[in-house]
Amino acid sequence: MKVNKYIQSLINDNKLNLSVQADQWKFGKNPFIISGPCSVESEEMIVDWSLKMKELGVDALRGGAYKPCTYPITEAIGDWKEGLREDGLRFLLTAKKESGLPIVSEIMDVSQINQLSMDTIDYIQVGTRNFQNYTLLDELGKLDKPILLKRGTWGTLDEILGACERILVGGNEKVAICLRGVVGMPSYRHIFPSTRWAPDLMMIPALKEFCDIPIIYDPSHSTGYRNFVKPISKAAIAAGADGLIIESHPEPEKSISDADHISRWTRVKIVSINKNI
Ligand code: PEP
Ligand code: MN
Repeated sequence: MKVNKYIQSLINDNKLNLSVQADQWKFGKNPFIISGPCSVESEEMIVDWSLKMKELGVDALRGGAYKPCTYPITEAIGDWKEGLREDGLRFLLTAKKESGLPIVSEIMDVSQINQLSMDTIDYIQVGTRNFQNYTLLDELGKLDKPILLKRGTWGTLDEILGACERILVGGNEKVAICLRGVVGMPSYRHIFPSTRWAPDLMMIPALKEFCDIPIIYDPSHSTGYRNFVKPISKAAIAAGADGLIIESHPEPEKSISDADHISRWTRVKIVSINKNI
């Protein structure tokens, strides 16, 4: 691995130990495609969608049970209040049994590491907002389960490595970095109001200079607009990403959360079938 002066100084100061390498996640397939809704909305929806994802050749099903919303949700939508929470996990467990797909879902807090979440979730997602929640990362470092660590919208390269290090030094070497958009309002936001972030694809080759930690790119949250998901997916794979996490939904416009960037079935099909993009 290459090191430059700045990274070398972090290694010399015992802040980073790039020789602790992450396990390669035994992806098997490359690129590794994760897809599913932003939120689990009902048992029927997630089970049906898991079967469709399986049929398309998607490698893992995503679905949020605990949803960190930008603004507090004060009125529940049916049973959904910042996610279906434990019910959402139970529905994901059924979807896993029915489809055979492994599950990617977020844990927001140490209190959510329990029997139900551990039985259900195969790849624990750390959300953007918890990128540097070291209490949580330290606990995840004690587990023997893959962690998908999302980059904070503010995270610099060395902060990404530092957050991974938190998990790695705890003994859990199954870490993957999930890159998504960063702060820096796109100059076309007045035309596409849901594009809140800048995709920062250059972080993919930049990280690859220093570590072999797998990189899963999120073209959904990084663009904020469904028509941009396919081109940015292609660009991320071309730039060296090891996989993609794409939000999808049977009726994207009706999604409870993130309706603007959720992809249709046909779009996921194009990305997941044509893996050599
Ligand atoms: C998500 O992937 O479900 C999510 C909430 O994204 P982020 O943490 O990147 O905002
Ligand atoms: Mn989302």
